[in-house]
Amino acid sequence: MTDTFSNKKNSQTPGKSTLSIWGGEQEHELYERSTQVPVVHSVSFAYKDIDTWHKVALEEEPGHIYSRNTNPTVRAFEDKVKELEGAEAATSFASGMAAISNIFGTFLRPGDRVVSIKDSYGGTNKIFTEFLPPLNVDVMLCDTIDYDEIETEVAKGCTLLYLETPTNPTVKIIDIKRLAAAAKKVNALVVVDNTFASPINQNPLALGADIVLHSASKYLGGHADALGGVACGNKDLVKMLYHYREINGATLAPMDAYSFIRGMKTLSLRVERQNQSAMTIAKYLQAHPMVEEVNYPGLETHPHHDVAKSQMKGFGGMLSFSVKGGLDAIKTFLPKMKYAHMAANLGCVETVVGPPVTTSHVECTAEERAAAGIPEGLVRYSTGIEDIEDLLADLEQALAYLK
Ligand SMILES: *Cc1c(COP(=O)(O)O)cnc(C)c1O
Repeated sequence: MTDTFSNKKNSQTPGKSTLSIWGGEQEHELYERSTQVPVVHSVSFAYKDIDTWHKVALEEEPGHIYSRNTNPTVRAFEDKVKELEGAEAATSFASGMAAISNIFGTFLRPGDRVVSIKDSYGGTNKIFTEFLPPLNVDVMLCDTIDYDEIETEVAKGCTLLYLETPTNPTVKIIDIKRLAAAAKKVNALVVVDNTFASPINQNPLALGADIVLHSASKYLGGHADALGGVACGNKDLVKMLYHYREINGATLAPMDAYSFIRGMKTLSLRVERQNQSAMTIAKYLQAHPMVEEVNYPGLETHPHHDVAKSQMKGFGGMLSFSVKGGLDAIKTFLPKMKYAHMAANLGCVETVVGPPVTTSHVECTAEERAAAGIPEGLVRYSTGIEDIEDLLADLEQALAYLK
């Protein structure tokens, strides 16, 4: 329909940095020769004649009708993510959770069966345990790294296989290619939450997924100042998803779409730095006497380092670690950190730290966290883009309070 960057590209496929900057920035949406995508704060779009209006409404001509459906700023954001995920189409949502719940609303019906993992994002887990069962959707949550169990459950028949990798907060790795292949045999739709990896590090569609989604509130935006979600896939699936969202109304706001477009210009720079720093920090923590365990897929000691290496281009900025003394020790040393927010978000330019009890699994009870294998004494560490020397020194001085 529109003249996207991918249509224009010549024989050479643009790299991720180029796509982060130029992807989705269609010329026809630039206003009065501005070089930046404008924030179109308009609920509706007016026409001079009924025939053109009608054609646009029928999607026979490009254009916009009403911003709950489409909006130029929002469209540019969707197209940018689409390019980075190598997808045919993308649509966006008011939050990451809106993307996830709209995917379920679009593709699940009473009597359907979902197979997923025990440690998906806390909010997603709530949908599995609280909201889907009353709709007569059967949910089977498997041990996250028991690939055999997931395969067996998928083979029993399911409508949808829902995966997330790396997981939150223990950064477990799931073999997307292997499990997507298993799902294809029973015609199940494969959905992957790619929030933790970002499209710079991982492209699930290329590994066999049908739909890839992001909480744009994290790495895509990168500045923790806008909430949103996005899902990509083939044209038919995205059309169904878009239709469900346009009617149900979990629409991304133009200002937030603009914040994402702005943030994404530096996505690959940020993620490359975060990949590097997280690796250095993981190694530092591994050698620290007060640290019990470090979870990071880039470490050779990670149980699925090989899978991570084969499906990711970088290991990401997220890691977690446990310290001697559990939750009490965390309460002692975390507040001493100077260059880290103690907060619930992740994936932004600032380093952010917190235990699962106040971050990823705040929605869960202590029993649910235990069942998901999430220790209470864990620290989730979202690496920022500060100087690595300062991040290491900050951890050193804060951990010294534990001795
Ligand atoms: C934050 C997050 C979500 C939810 O996104 P919101 O934008 O906060 O609704 C979903 N999945 C993962 C992995 C997340 O980190």
